[in-house]
Formats: sequence, structure tokens, C-alpha cells
Amino acid sequence: MAGDHYDLFVIGAGSGGVRAARIASGHGARVALAEADRFGGTCVIRGCVPKKLLVYASRFADDFEDARGFGWTLDAAPRFDWSALIAAKDKEIARLEGLYRQTLANAGVTTFAERAEIASPTSIRLASGREIGADKILIATGGAPYVEPELAGREHVITSDQAFHLAALPEEIVIVGGGYIAVEFAGIFAGLGARTTLLYRGDKILRGFDADLRDGLSEAYAKRGIRIVTGRNFTRIEKRADGRLVGHLDDGGTLAADQIMYATGRRPKVAGLGLEALGVKCGWNGHVVVDDEFRSSVPTIFAVGDVTDHPQLTPVAIRDGHAFADRMFANKTRDIDYENIPTAVFSTPEIGTVGLPEHLAAERTHAYDVYLARFRPMRATISGRDERTIMKLIVDTESDRVIGCHVLGPEAGEMVQMAAIAMRLGATKAQFDATMPLHPSAAEELVTMRTKRAPPATP
Ligand code: FAD
Ligand code: NDP
Repeated sequence: MAGDHYDLFVIGAGSGGVRAARIASGHGARVALAEADRFGGTCVIRGCVPKKLLVYASRFADDFEDARGFGWTLDAAPRFDWSALIAAKDKEIARLEGLYRQTLANAGVTTFAERAEIASPTSIRLASGREIGADKILIATGGAPYVEPELAGREHVITSDQAFHLAALPEEIVIVGGGYIAVEFAGIFAGLGARTTLLYRGDKILRGFDADLRDGLSEAYAKRGIRIVTGRNFTRIEKRADGRLVGHLDDGGTLAADQIMYATGRRPKVAGLGLEALGVKCGWNGHVVVDDEFRSSVPTIFAVGDVTDHPQLTPVAIRDGHAFADRMFANKTRDIDYENIPTAVFSTPEIGTVGLPEHLAAERTHAYDVYLARFRPMRATISGRDERTIMKLIVDTESDRVIGCHVLGPEAGEMVQMAAIAMRLGATKAQFDATMPLHPSAAEELVTMRTKRAPPATP
């Protein structure tokens, strides 16, 4: 069946797709978009936003505890209601979804609330069977949680998608993985009162992050009662008659829990898009291979965000979508710096990081200096909380430029976003030091660190 024809057809109303559609339409293009699920995509519906709301909820436990040190008496022990939290979260997500739909409508983008596949290099087939023509097609289908297909009993486990909709807070949970999602959800579930175990196949959680932060967070989690089991993995998951799950470990042991959550990475959502038949080249984990104009191996087909091999972060998907629209429909180029992306792990305590961790500075620079501060945050002094903030700057010795900034502690993400601006402008350590401190704050430590850490002893 023949249908309309557009300048651009976008598949996926997530962070990247919505931005690309809106900006392209603003540049005068005729744009249509299809979304198979809820408008807003991973970040809004089942990612950053609901996750951060759960993180906030989990941190009240600390507030209640710390309040006593500041003279408060809580007459009755505070009680937490999981259903109330999930209902409030769902209401907020529904509001945001409405705003996403509204944004697209206001921008003049035609939307289809159904699945799309690519029928030819210049046409789309919707689930309803309708065919629509387009000069350019943008794949912005994002990714989905990955659980090893060979894992026996994988039907018993949940991923982050289901974690947001559990009927009840588990009394005991095992979370598999040592990356962003596993670490964040361990903090959430533990903060809300679940007995929490993190099972990681490597020797230290958060591979790729600076080692001092990885150690610092592992220690902080242990003090908070989160059990971290390293160097092991599940070989199979069994469901007992009473509904409890038992994970069998590769060393012969077992871990039992009410829920087992897998957070072992995400894979691009490309299945059923028809890419193979069209000859669109995909990479090792299924991602669409694109050049620096977001163009795939088929000249009319493009891709942005998590479905490519770009860092799987919302701001990256948004910048990709914006740059794609500017380049194709306004002849403007926008450089995207995929290095030096500030990022946070919303654990409690939180991690914020930008630039090179020390192990990469050692590989990539001729010589570097490390400034490291460990201190008890002021709030923890009279609350009695036994926790340390860690701040670490890595400085290129030759140029004096700050090339890494790593923080573990309250509001680490907020601090690092600001440090990232200075670093992008090429700020030197001398310029950090010349900046007047804001007192009393934790962030002032970033401009007052004077003593270089002694170099590691050579064997
Ligand atoms: P998505 O947002 O995934 O959008 C893709 C859309 O395409 C989806 O709505 C999907 O339904 C739709 N779709 C797929 N196939 C089709 C089809 N065939 N037809 C029609 N529609 C289709 N990033 C951060 O920066 N900070 C965070 O704190 C953070 N927290 C996260 C927490 C969790 C639990 C998760 C899972 C992710 C988190 N992320 C975070 C990552 C972030 O959510 C993603 O990087 C971002 O959403 C990617 O945007 P995207 O547009 O590429 O894809
Ligand atoms: P990550 O890539 O961050 O971590 C995956 C973890 O799973 C790693 O520890 C990895 O181990 C482990 N793993 C991978 N395969 C297996 C396996 N077969 N068995 C056991 N363990 C395995 O992925 P996430 O799922 O945590 O998150 C996906 C992405 O979403 C993140 O990379 C990030 O880009 C984004 N995100 C961002 C957030 C933020 O900005 N705050 C929050 C949440 C997600 P190993 O280290 O050994 O490879």
C-alpha cells in the first residue's frame, strides 16, 4: 500500500530519536517518527529518570539515621512503602511521557505509535502494514538488557526493566554485574532495606573507573552491609517450590534470594529491523556501524545513540541526534567530544568522574602527578557516619593541565559537571589553585589540594 513520503523517518522516540526529529523539523524538514513502546525511551521510561527517583528514595534512610546526631528524635521508626514509591514514580513518568509526545506534536513531527521496520533504503513498513517513504531513515532504537542466552534458568531472573515494577520490595536480592546498573541498584535496594549481594565475575567492581574510587566505593558498600562477592559467576538459576531462587556458582557454592537481577550490559536493539537484508553493516555486538556523519553502510540509512557503539549515555544520544539533524538539514557541523564525558554512578556514596583515570594517565601521558584527598564529609562529623569522601586530580606534569577529576562522595556528579567545563577549557592545576575556594564546601578541596601524592614505590 503506498503512503506518504517524508524527508526523514525516525525509528524510536528515545533521547536520540526525539532530539533528531524535533531539530530536523525545526530546520524545515518533513519528519515522521514511529515508537513501538512508550514515548521517551529508556532514559525517561526505564532508565535515568526512574532510577534517580529510586536513588532519592533510598537515601532517606541515611537522612533519618544522620538526623539523630543533629538533635532530632524520630519518635517512631520510619517505615517505607514500596507501592507508594512505585505509584508516585509511575505518575511522574506518565507526566514526562506526555511532555515528550507534546514536544513532538509542537515541533510538527508526525508520530506513529507502532513498531517500524525498514522495507527498503527509502521506505518504512509499520506494524499495521502501512508503508511510508522517506529520503533518509534514522535508526534510534536504543538497546535492551543483555542476559547470557545460555544461562539455564534465565527465565527466573529480572533485569532493570522489571526492577522498576516489582510488586514488592524483595527481602533479599542478588544483583549480577559490576557496572553502572548493578552498582546503582545495589545501593537502591540496600538503602530501601533489602539484604543485598552484588555478584561480580571480576576482582573489583566498576572496571574502567579510577582504582581509588573503585576501592573507596567497595569499602563504603561493605560498611553499609552490601555483600560483594567477586571472582565468581552463576552457572544456573533454580526456582524452588517455595518461590525462592537459588543461583549456583561456578565454584560449587550457591546464593539464594527472593529476586536475582542481571545487570550484565545492554545490547543494541536491531532485531527485526530488516538490516541484514538491506546490507546495513553491524558490529560485534549488533550495533549499527556509522561514520562521523552517523551514516551506515547504506547511504540513506543513519543511526544515533545506544544502537551505535557510542557511549551508552543519554547526553551522548541527544548530542548525536542534534548533530545528525544539523548536519543533514541545516548543513551545520557540530563536533562531539566522545572523550572527556563527565559521568556519574548514582551509588550512595556517589561517584563523579571526568577525564583520565590513573591507569589510563599512566598509559597515555609521559608523566603525571596525582593529588588525592580523603576526608570525612562535614555532615558525617556529628552524625557519626563512618564514611570518607575521596577527591582525586590527575595533572599532566609537562603542561600542568588537569586531565582527570574523580570524586566519591555526596553530590559528586554535580561537582564533576562543573570541573568538566574547566577541563574542557584546558584549565591547569595552577588555575584551579588560583580559583577562590567556596567555603565551607566539599568542592573547595578541588582548588586547595597542594600536596602531590608520593609516586608508587618502584620494586
Ligand atoms: P532509547 O532511549 O533506548 O530509545 C529507543 C526507542 O526506540 C525506545 O523507546 C524503543 O521502544 C524504540 N524502538 C526500538 N525498536 C523500535 C522499532 N522497531 N520501532 C519503533 N520503535 C522502536 N544514561 C545517563 O546518561 N545517565 C543515567 O543516569 C543513566 N541511567 C540509566 C539507568 C538505566 C537503568 C538504564 C537502562 C540506562 C541508563 N542510562 C543512563 C542510559 C540511557 O538511558 C541511554 O543511553 C539512552 O536512553 C539512549 O537513548 P537512545 O535514544 O539511543 O535509545
Ligand atoms: P556495564 O557495561 O556498565 O556493566 C556490565 C557489567 O556486567 C560489567 O561489570 C561486566 O563485567 C558484567 N558482565 C558482562 N557480561 C557478563 C556475563 N556474561 N556474566 C557476568 N557478568 C557480566 O552495563 P550495565 O548493564 O551496568 O549498564 C549499561 C550501560 O548503561 C552502561 O554502560 C552505561 O553506559 C549506561 N548507564 C549509565 C548510567 C549512568 O550514567 N549513571 C546508569 C546506568 C546505565 P566486566 O566488567 O568484567 O566486563
